[in-house]
Amino acid sequence: MSSIQGSCLCGNIQYPSHLLPLTTAICHCNDCQKQSGSAFSVNMLLPVDGFSIDGASLGFYSKSGSSGLSVKRFFCTNCGSALYSEVDVMPGMIAIKGGSLTDPTSIKPQLHLWCSSALPWVDIDGSLPCFKEASPNENE
Ligand SMILES: [Zn+2]
Ligand SMILES: [Zn+2]
Repeated sequence: MSSIQGSCLCGNIQYPSHLLPLTTAICHCNDCQKQSGSAFSVNMLLPVDGFSIDGASLGFYSKSGSSGLSVKRFFCTNCGSALYSEVDVMPGMIAIKGGSLTDPTSIKPQLHLWCSSALPWVDIDGSLPCFKEASPNENE
């Protein structure tokens, strides 16, 4: 994979990037379940520098995460697709939703977060690290 590109469901918002995700994490937290309308979200972590997104219908919703710091969740106000998040615990980084990729088969999850709230029927790959909450250092 040499770059990532993606869009929302209606196509109003596009993001091309020459950057590669540093890691891809499946997040089973309750907020990701609510926002995605699904069992978990697939988050690609990237440095925000060099990331650009085009489209007038970008909106966001801000809510405190478990750390008490805010998580800003960006979505398309036309079709409702979740696109990416800015998380105050990770300054300089963004988490792009893997399902928004033009080719989501190009990514491979490397770890699981918030396994404490994973739904019982979700089969988690036992060969991957599975953190009970956010990540080892945030749990301290
Ligand atoms: Zn859209
Ligand atoms: Zn989450």
